[in-house]
Amino acid sequence: MISFDFTYFKPSSVTEIIDMYNEVHEQGEKALFISGGTEFITFARTNKIYADAIIDSKGIPECNVLEMRGGDLLIGAAVSLNKITDSNLFPFLGATVEQIADHTSRNKITIGGNINSELIYKESILPLLLVDAKVKVLKGTDERVVSLQSLFDRKIKLSPGELLLQIIIDSSYIDLPYISLKRTKFSKVGYPVVSVAAILKGNRLRIAFSGVCNYPFRSSEIETIINDLTIPVMDRIDKVMDNLPSSIVDDLQGSREYRAFVLKNVLLDVIEEMEMGE
Ligand SMILES: Cc1cc2nc3c(=O)[nH]c(=O)nc-3n(C[C@H](O)[C@H](O)[C@H](O)COP(=O)(O)OP(=O)(O)OC[C@H]3O[C@@H](n4cnc5c(N)ncnc54)[C@H](O)[C@@H]3O)c2cc1C
Repeated sequence: MISFDFTYFKPSSVTEIIDMYNEVHEQGEKALFISGGTEFITFARTNKIYADAIIDSKGIPECNVLEMRGGDLLIGAAVSLNKITDSNLFPFLGATVEQIADHTSRNKITIGGNINSELIYKESILPLLLVDAKVKVLKGTDERVVSLQSLFDRKIKLSPGELLLQIIIDSSYIDLPYISLKRTKFSKVGYPVVSVAAILKGNRLRIAFSGVCNYPFRSSEIETIINDLTIPVMDRIDKVMDNLPSSIVDDLQGSREYRAFVLKNVLLDVIEEMEMGE
């Protein structure tokens, strides 16, 4: 049960969604955009989140786009994880998001919701960071396209009232070799102990991580180490472990030592699969 009352709006255009947000805001109340709404419901039930009004972006055509246009793949923020996988438009992203939650939940969970999640995992951001994705965001009447990386500092930094509309991926990345490996504590479904995504671009491996630190990350230091074929594989892995951007998560999903052990094994698998051994 949710212990507070809130108003639910489902606008059908960009103009309407902004008007609704402004209206709530001008009354001194808190409005929150949602896409799939699963995290809002979960957090509201446990009083981890509060809003006077929920503004659902699912009715906005721009947020439901999933198509190739020109040389880009456009993915609306309200597109569900299952739709991304089923479309097969970007197999790397499809394979990564297919590892999130269970099939039924993935019908609801959206890419916009996952990358803006308050949880530490945000696994769908890993491929997006690796392919230099851009995002279209809207605040008031101001619509802008910026690199995802420029908004990302441990989490996506949107200002209050700013809406993520779309993710834009250059089609030149779509057929590159990739790997997406996730390890959980018990079953196939669960938050990651370690989740690693990697893509090979011009003989250079790009690699991103979730579940290791308190936030998902891509690190140029780590990529330099991984790509230094003059260093023996096990030494490279040890160097990566020494160059993580912050301490390894230590929680109920997995102790620090366990996560470190799993990460080393996953790195070995990635290096072998992507033939980065010598
Ligand atoms: C059973 C289950 C298992 C899960 N397992 C995993 C897992 O293994 N890995 C993982 O990474 N995650 C996992 N999650 C977490 C899940 O991906 C997130 O909770 C995600 O936020 C849910 O997506 P949603 O579309 O329902 O989000 P919503 O509830 O709609 O939104 C989540 C957050 O994003 C913001 N937001 C949503 N859309 C927009 C937008 N267009 N513009 C700006 N802000 C926006 C909202 O304001 C809110 O803060 C799991 C969740 C469940 C329920």
